[in-house]
Amino acid sequence: MLYLDNAATTPLHPKALEAMMPYFTEFFANPSSVYAPAQKVRAAVGEARQSIADAIGAERDEIFFTSGGTEADNWAIKGVLDSRGGHIITSSVEHHGVLYVFEHLKKQGFEVTYLPVDTEGLVDPASLEEAIRPDTRLISVIFANNEVGSIQPIKELGAIANQHGIPFHTDAVQAVGHLPIDVKALGIDMLALSAHKFYGPKGIGALYVKRGTKLAPVLHGGAQENNRRAGTENVTGIIGMAAALRASLDEMPGEFTRVSALRDRLINEILEKIPHTKLNGATGEKRLPGNVNISFSFIEGELFLSHLSMNDCCVSTGSACSSNAHEPSHVLMAMGLDSVLANCAIRFSLGRVNTEADITNLMSILQPTAEKLLKQSVLYDMHLKNKR
Ligand SMILES: *Cc1c(COP(=O)(O)O)cnc(C)c1O
Repeated sequence: MLYLDNAATTPLHPKALEAMMPYFTEFFANPSSVYAPAQKVRAAVGEARQSIADAIGAERDEIFFTSGGTEADNWAIKGVLDSRGGHIITSSVEHHGVLYVFEHLKKQGFEVTYLPVDTEGLVDPASLEEAIRPDTRLISVIFANNEVGSIQPIKELGAIANQHGIPFHTDAVQAVGHLPIDVKALGIDMLALSAHKFYGPKGIGALYVKRGTKLAPVLHGGAQENNRRAGTENVTGIIGMAAALRASLDEMPGEFTRVSALRDRLINEILEKIPHTKLNGATGEKRLPGNVNISFSFIEGELFLSHLSMNDCCVSTGSACSSNAHEPSHVLMAMGLDSVLANCAIRFSLGRVNTEADITNLMSILQPTAEKLLKQSVLYDMHLKNKR
């Protein structure tokens, strides 16, 4: 199997699995209980919290565990708003975990500004400055895009939000563990992360909340997470997430360079060897190290995927969550692609387990598959006839 869908999820890091195992068996106590075995589990959860805080330049009491990125995004956005209503700002290239929350809030009566992006998928900080109103209650901009890998100018956006005293949230699910992040230096008030995007287990994530940020509790009940998210902690998840993040940070200097080189090799080979291809998104430093997003003109993305899947090749059209809805990606549309080209996009996302050999093997499948599908393409046939 050729797994090139690390933006959808990543395999568990061996160090995360190793760290988790004792908490499934020996150390099963509820961390809220009073006896000694529980104290040990409680201490381990505290150490994990500290370790995750350290990884993003936060304090221990600023990290709140959640069930993943989606919950962290939902909580951050809904939790800072109140019955006053008002105006909220986001970008036009958000993950559904943010986008659909804004759409929901719009129906509830909030006024929403969706910041535009350029052809590389990047927000212009000047457009944020212009969008801000006296009644703006929240700004939420994705750190790095899950479909095309564009890395936003978060520091500039954060500085503008800070100047106006407006809470600034960022969905950093694709960035944490892959890029160095310091929430204080970047002016971030809330940041969502998810373990399974950096080699941790699924179903666990966290929300960083800067001290002093007014955030309503998400779940009422027990006193867990400083009375803000009730429910017995996902102890194994928390331990695994901390171990995976530590391992990702340790490996980051080498992995960033290695994976970026694989990415650039794949981009160059596709553009050189396969006709009618176009790269979507930014290049170099403004792109996530593992992201490759290419439109194969005249070949419908879903069809391409199924042929690649028959060859044991796991890739995606972009967002895993929308891959059943045959709608063109809102991210690619916001970048100015027409719906035909947007429907021809394939995302290859590389990670720590991918090698040079994977790129060679992928190309040996991609090239003949693209050639075959191009020959069968009605759109391509029409294009040829129009040219004559
Ligand atoms: C995967 C992803 C999410 C959702 O995280 P879950 O932990 O799967 O809920 C949110 N935002 C982005 C950018 C993602 O890539």
